[in-house]
Amino acid sequence: MKIIIAKTAGFCMGVRRAVEMVLDAPGKHRQPICTYGPLIHNPQVLELLEEKGISAIDRIPEQASGTALVRAHGVPPETKEQLRDAGFDVADATCPRVIKVQTIIAKHARRGHATIIVGDRDHPEVVGLLGYAGKNGYAVASLDDLSALPPFDQAIIVAQTTQNIHFFESVKNWAAANHPHYRVFDTICDSTAKRQAEVKKLAETVDAIVVVGGRNSGNTQRLAELAGDSGKPTFHIETEAELDLDALAGAETIGVTAGASTPHWIIRRVFRRLETIPIRHSPGWQRTMFNLQRGLLLTNIYVAAGAGCLSFACARLLEAPHFFPSTLVSVLYVLSMHLLHHLTGSREDRYNDPGRASFYTKYQYILALLAVVAGGAGLLTAYTMGPVPFLILLAMSVLGLSYNIRWLPKETGRYRRIRDIPGSKTILIALAWGVVTAVFPALTGNGQSVILAGVVILWATGMVFVRTAFFDLLDMQGDRIVGKETLPILFGEKKTRRLLKYVLLAIILLLGGSATMGWAPSLGYALCVCPVFMGMVVDADEKGKMLPGIRLEFLVETLFVLAGLIALAWALLSGI
Ligand code: SF4
Repeated sequence: MKIIIAKTAGFCMGVRRAVEMVLDAPGKHRQPICTYGPLIHNPQVLELLEEKGISAIDRIPEQASGTALVRAHGVPPETKEQLRDAGFDVADATCPRVIKVQTIIAKHARRGHATIIVGDRDHPEVVGLLGYAGKNGYAVASLDDLSALPPFDQAIIVAQTTQNIHFFESVKNWAAANHPHYRVFDTICDSTAKRQAEVKKLAETVDAIVVVGGRNSGNTQRLAELAGDSGKPTFHIETEAELDLDALAGAETIGVTAGASTPHWIIRRVFRRLETIPIRHSPGWQRTMFNLQRGLLLTNIYVAAGAGCLSFACARLLEAPHFFPSTLVSVLYVLSMHLLHHLTGSREDRYNDPGRASFYTKYQYILALLAVVAGGAGLLTAYTMGPVPFLILLAMSVLGLSYNIRWLPKETGRYRRIRDIPGSKTILIALAWGVVTAVFPALTGNGQSVILAGVVILWATGMVFVRTAFFDLLDMQGDRIVGKETLPILFGEKKTRRLLKYVLLAIILLLGGSATMGWAPSLGYALCVCPVFMGMVVDADEKGKMLPGIRLEFLVETLFVLAGLIALAWALLSGI
């Protein structure tokens, strides 16, 4: 079974901007923070905001304090004044494209034009737009409504930004035929137009369509209508729990799209559930393979195996004779720390990967025991390697354990734990892996050159940096919700992707160049395959060719296993 996720699925620019503004508001604006009206039509996002103490008000109180955030739909100008008069600071998250429509209406209203808004009269965006039209504004939802309006000497026609493009075409034709002097502004947002065009195209190529988004969301409803018009079975759901897997089981290709107010993490959760359909109906061995992959990822055993393989590859590059203890330390340390991280970080997993969160809640004692045993065994192994590796690993274990502990009192502000330092997770994970997988083999090496040791450390650290930042990119919206400042949140998605490509290019040139210069063994050429493949994965994901499920996660971790396999094959072929 094939699953296609529409490229336009999920938050549009205006909604993303409003959600980011509200999440950043506690650090920037006077508290308490509230939104005037629900921020977006998505019950899950609203629940999250409530949990963070950001409530929605639908009535302006007589006296208030703190900040009221105007959502992406915008409000009439007098509403902003009333909010200020009540005592609120106003943070305006009106979408710039809605502001453009407001500006067109205000300009023409001043010149005496009547305003006809094609949209739902009760929709907050239309209510806001009517506020700019003054006394001569009309909302129409059908051609009958239009025909019922009196003729105007001068009038403009605009559309609610999420209006159905075909209906607006018929409005344009009506205006051309009946009132050619009316000025028509096509104000349908291109994000809406693209989303609607894509769902129609998608419907032609799939057997069933799943539309994800709030039932109250107008633009999601329109997507479901358009998908339904195609005659293909259409399922409008709010969350993955509503998926009718049996009804979808017969479909060979399923299309997934989502409204402009649907968070990325809900689309991912839907995808993860859909991806289990073929497994439920496939032969036993395929089901076993899928469950094995999932189990290895959930328990972090595969991640730890990848660390061991990377360590082995580094040891072979360094031509270190005693690779076994450092490889074992890498496996045990990475297993222990990743288990601890998920045991203490299940809050973000609740959004990014609820299956993982419930697995860690259900088996928390067994997994905690496994983490302690693995950590202890790692320290013991490091002890057999000598006092320096032991002390380094001890320091790193203490750092890892204290990562989630609040060291500073509440009064000191938001940076009380190591994890609160922006971008710390990506950098610390890369450094920790770099130390255990590359520095430890170098410590037990055969007196290799400092240049070679430096090249190997940079290569291993760079690979892990890209892996971790890539997963951060996939988890961006869930991380932002829980207030975690990962590198992509700090730098933005585009800059992070560019950074990952530069890092990959740098480590390819470094390792390949070192092999050419004779500083590293010729195995260096072969190991360039791993960053090249990683670059292909990052690129394919950017182009929307990668689906955000278990297979993608497994593929990325496999690149580290691949490094070990290449090193092993190289060792066997060269008879070492
Ligand atoms: S659909 Fe378009 S106009 Fe509406 S909030 Fe999104 S980007 Fe802005």
